[in-house]
Formats: sequence, C-alpha cells, structure tokens
Amino acid sequence: MIKKCDFPGCTKAGTCRAPKTRDLKEYWFFCQEHAAEYNKNWNYYADMSPEEIEEDWEQQTFGASTKRSKQDSADYIKFLNDFITGRDTFDKMPPKKSLPSAIVSAFKTLDLPITASWHEIGTKYRALAKKHHPDIASGDTSGTEFARISSAYQTLKRHFGK
Ligand SMILES: [Zn+2]
Repeated sequence: MIKKCDFPGCTKAGTCRAPKTRDLKEYWFFCQEHAAEYNKNWNYYADMSPEEIEEDWEQQTFGASTKRSKQDSADYIKFLNDFITGRDTFDKMPPKKSLPSAIVSAFKTLDLPITASWHEIGTKYRALAKKHHPDIASGDTSGTEFARISSAYQTLKRHFGK
C-alpha cells in the first residue's frame, strides 16, 4: 500500500520525501504539492545554524520576541502550526473499520474520502447543494439528489458533533 501524504487531510500519495530535521534522520512523506510547499518554507532556514533555527521557531511560536519579522518566517510558523494542529485532528479520526456504514456512505454521497475534515465537508456540501438545488438544477431527479446530499450532510454534522 502506498503511504498517504503526511499533510493533514491530504489524500494524495506521499511520494516525495522531505526531511523533518536537518540531520536527515526522519522524513515526512508528502505529495508533490505539499513537498513543494514544505521545501519552499524550509529553504528560508538554509543559511542558519540548527541553533538559530530552533531559537527562531521558539520565538515565533511562543511569541517571546519579535526580533525577526520576516513574512516568510511568519508563514512558515503558520504552516508548522497548521501542520501540527491538523495532524492532531487527523490522527484522532477513528480508523476506517470502526466507522458506521451510515457515515461511510454519507462521505460517499458527498464524494469525499472518509478522512475529509469538517471544513472540507462544509465546502463540498455547499458546492453540491448549490449545483443540485431544485431552484437551480433542471431535471426530475434534482430534488431527490438535493435531499440525498442534505441528508448526508446532516449525518456527518452529527458525526462531527457540530
Ligand atoms: Zn499532500
């Protein structure tokens, strides 16, 4: 089985290896898109020593100092924070086999992977609901399809405790 991209919520194959640390002992596995994003941010630190990088991370993350105000740095910290936060949510999601079939089929109805985040579900639901709304869509089945999508969304809403 191909490992999935390590970026939270991403379902693409993790075919690109990216070093977690400078000593290259551990790696993330990203899809091309996320590897590029990671590398772009990583390069910011290319001319700094590991100690300087750590100091920079701590200062940016914990707001101890604003000595460095580069936008690149802020972006990188945001990326890291998103990564860590998202990763956490991602890991807490129940494994595939423990998901009730109603939930799995709700994901399927919305054409989403079961690893999709609540945010992704909302975005997709709005797009589908707009497309299939009886007032907009033509054809006899549009109302049925709209009801199906709405019902799947409600199921997932309860599942996510929203
Ligand atoms: Zn990815």
